Amino acid sequence: MRKEKDVIIYLKYGLLEKIKDCVNNATPNEACGFVFGTIEEVPLSVPGEFQYHYIAKEFHCIESNHKSPIAFLISDEERFGKAFREAAHSQDLRLISIFHSHPSGNRPSGTDLDNMKYLDKFGLKATKNQIWTIMDAKDKKIKGYMYLQKELIEVEVISQE
Ligand SMILES: [Zn+2]
Repeated sequence: MRKEKDVIIYLKYGLLEKIKDCVNNATPNEACGFVFGTIEEVPLSVPGEFQYHYIAKEFHCIESNHKSPIAFLISDEERFGKAFREAAHSQDLRLISIFHSHPSGNRPSGTDLDNMKYLDKFGLKATKNQIWTIMDAKDKKIKGYMYLQKELIEVEVISQE
């Protein structure tokens, strides 16, 4: 899998702890949640080229009996919409990442990839160009992925602690 060096997600101080708590509380089920923040376009020294910094500022852990965050997003649009509007209105934040955990491992499953493709094709503007963050519930390592131009890519996750 290609690693895209020009997209980076930064988790602000304390956010990784919140995410780990969400995962621990959901065990043995998979945890899911939504990350809100801002996206900054940072010009590189080459004219016309940019890095995209996804600055994660808020994490909403979803208590749900659904098997995946997409199942939640689709079947519980009202609750998703409420969390989304609160973040967007009170702090001018947008949805930047869909988070979930796996019992072990942090690579996207076949279902994850199908969901990424689904959102890329049919998603609302607000759910496009998401970074999918996945945490291994065992070692708590987190990785980021995007489905861009019909390709699954890995992006850098940096926790600012
Ligand atoms: Zn998954």
